[in-house]
Amino acid sequence: MTRINSIEIFIVVFMAASWLLGAVLVAKAAKDRGKSFGNYLALGIFTSWVVSLITLTVVRSNEASHHTFCPDCAETIQLANATCASCGRKL
Ligand SMILES: [Zn+2]
Repeated sequence: MTRINSIEIFIVVFMAASWLLGAVLVAKAAKDRGKSFGNYLALGIFTSWVVSLITLTVVRSNEASHHTFCPDCAETIQLANATCASCGRKL
């Protein structure tokens, strides 16, 4: 019969806790960027917070490439728009 010692329990608990903590931290970062906290938390828990972080980074850089800033009012403008929605300046 195998005896489970306390150090093994500690390692398992520590790994589970850091897994969850990572997932929560990435989910919080996603929420700060206007993404769904729940979606990224679920992604982080069911895959890994690393996958969740990569997804957040990729989604973010994709969005950044579709936006620019208005030279007049510094509002974020979608590149598909020809005029600034905030001040009406033509790009
Ligand atoms: Zn503007």
